[in-house]
Amino acid sequence: MKQRYRIDGRFVVADEEGFNQALAKAQASKTPVFCGCSSGVDLRLYISKRFGKLVLSRWPGSGGNHATGCDHFDAPDFLSGMGQVRGAAVVDDEMTGETSLKVNFPMSRGPARAAPSALTNDKPSVKSTGYKLSMRGLLHVLWDRAELTHWHPKMADKRNWYVVRRALLEAVEQCRMKTLPLAGLIFVPESFREDDKAEIVKRRTMALERVRRSREEMMIVIAEVKERKAFEDRLRIVFKHVGDMRFVLDPDMAKRFNKRFEGDLNLWASDDLRESHLILAGSFCRRPEGTYDLIEVALMPVTRQWLPYESSEELELIEKAVREKRRFVKGLRVNLERTVPIASLVLKDMGERAVAVHIHDEKIEAGEALAALLDEQSVDHYLWWEGEDLPKRGERGPQGAGSAASAKPPVAGGPQRDQEKAAEENVPGDAQASRGFAAYADG
Ligand SMILES: [Zn+2]
Repeated sequence: MKQRYRIDGRFVVADEEGFNQALAKAQASKTPVFCGCSSGVDLRLYISKRFGKLVLSRWPGSGGNHATGCDHFDAPDFLSGMGQVRGAAVVDDEMTGETSLKVNFPMSRGPARAAPSALTNDKPSVKSTGYKLSMRGLLHVLWDRAELTHWHPKMADKRNWYVVRRALLEAVEQCRMKTLPLAGLIFVPESFREDDKAEIVKRRTMALERVRRSREEMMIVIAEVKERKAFEDRLRIVFKHVGDMRFVLDPDMAKRFNKRFEGDLNLWASDDLRESHLILAGSFCRRPEGTYDLIEVALMPVTRQWLPYESSEELELIEKAVREKRRFVKGLRVNLERTVPIASLVLKDMGERAVAVHIHDEKIEAGEALAALLDEQSVDHYLWWEGEDLPKRGERGPQGAGSAASAKPPVAGGPQRDQEKAAEENVPGDAQASRGFAAYADG
């Protein structure tokens, strides 16, 4: 399906002749641009310039209103941790298209060195309110903004560090943090190439200007961990592509790091094939000796496709979805604790309605929060158990009703909408889907 847009009452098709001129004209004359994916609803988009090219982006938080087959579709905020921070820790300026991010960690040392909260605080909820992002929250927001949470089978084997880095840098471009442009605070190592070594090191030195200038100033590294090297009571973190940069955790931090991230490190260690990656986001400063102190740290295991996961069940679910060539958006926790339910995946290939896939978890199901989440009627819900199949994909493309009925919400009394129509057309023998729900209803 080609993307269509409505400008001044006329439809234009993406990438067709005259499209770029139409965008430039709309930008100059401040004419609103609407997405053509859904009739009867005005879905406004905004125009921005990325790497010298005009691009259309969804209005922040509006992604769930687009058709599931539309490029601008995104999982609705309430299904993930984005709902808690949008408008508070993540504030979008509708006039400028800029986003300002509020964080709960310092970016300079100040007279008394602030204790790192991510590492001292084993229960992140104590400090990580919805109003300020923790380091993990920031990493998740950027990953989400970079759309590294989105998966389409055509991305298979195309997503590598080069692509991930570029997407992150694009995501950072329109953001500010503590009134500074985020781009000057974030360091994402360039893919290393032996033949370009001298130039890469030169560019790196420039990128690290802030921490080279002053011992008091900090930046944030987002990179893939290659290995951890313990030396006596210290821990050195070696990142891919910048193996020569010496990032060190002091004895106290090293101890807390191993304790705080035991679960993530175990997940990473248990990947025998070494196919997944471990992403670290951390604030750092530079010592006069040239080593870098890591201060506030978050870890995020990601699959071979760079999709974040937080448990072995979730890894299985994502790998199954990728293997079966599904289209989906991965939900991220941002600031939320592990005990708060979020949808693990939102399937985009189920027909008109998106289907939120929740991983079965007895502890979470005992609480009321999940029931409230499953009560949300703008998407369908599916409860997935380890080892089970995913609901079958809609057969008739994004505009058809597909097999949405097989993913009826487990809560009785859903909206009338197209459900009856879809139910009539339900594929018989789709036992897997009903089993998922029956299991929930019984539990
Ligand atoms: Zn759309």
